[in-house]
Amino acid sequence: MMRIILLGPPGAGKGTQAQFISKEYDIPQISTGDMLRAAIKEGSELGKQAKDVMNAGGLVSDDLIINLVQERIAKPDCVNGCIFDGFPRTYIQAYILEGLMLKLNTSLNCLISLNVPEEESVARLLNRGKTSGRSDDNEKVIRNRLKEYNEKTLPVLQFYRDKGIYVEVNGIDTIENVNLSIT
Ligand code: ADP
Repeated sequence: MMRIILLGPPGAGKGTQAQFISKEYDIPQISTGDMLRAAIKEGSELGKQAKDVMNAGGLVSDDLIINLVQERIAKPDCVNGCIFDGFPRTYIQAYILEGLMLKLNTSLNCLISLNVPEEESVARLLNRGKTSGRSDDNEKVIRNRLKEYNEKTLPVLQFYRDKGIYVEVNGIDTIENVNLSIT
C-alpha cells in the first residue's frame, strides 16, 4: 500500500514525476489540476465553477476539491494506494484528507516536496506557455499561482513536517536524477 503526496510550486515538474511514481508503484495518479482541466473541457458544472478562478491563478474552493478527491479515491483502482499530485494545497484540504484516510482505514506514507527556486519556476512556465495552450501559463497568472502557493500551500508542508512524513527533493536536477532521488 502506497499513498504518496507530491507537492511543489507551479512548474516544479510534479506531473512528470507523478507519472513515474505511478508506473513504478503501479498506483493511479490523482492530479486535481488535470481533473479540473478535464471538467472545464467537458463543460461540466464543476468545470464552470472552477474556470475563472483557475484562469486567474487562484485556488479552487476546498469544497469542490474535496468532493472531487473523495469520489476519486473511492474507485476500485485506488485500493492499493495512489499518488496525489497537487493535492492537498490548503491546510483545510490536508486536514480533511486525514479524515478521509482514517475512514478508509489507511494512512499516508509520505509527502514529497519538489523544490524549485521561484525564478526557475517562472522561466519554466513561460517556456511551457509557448506550447502548452494553458491559459494560466502567462506571467501575471504565474505570479499569482506562486503567491497562492507561498501563502496557502507552504503551511501544508509544515503540517506534514510535524507529522514526520515530509521529504524534500531538489527539483532543478534532470528529470532522471529527480526521479532517482525520489525512489
Ligand atoms: P500548477 O501546479 O502548475 O499550477 P496544477 O495543474 O496542479 O498546476 O493546478 C492548476 C490550477 O488548478 C491551480 O492553479 C488551481 O487553480 C487549481 N487546483 C489544482 N489543484 C487544486 C487544489 N488541490 N486546490 C485548489 N485548487 C487547485
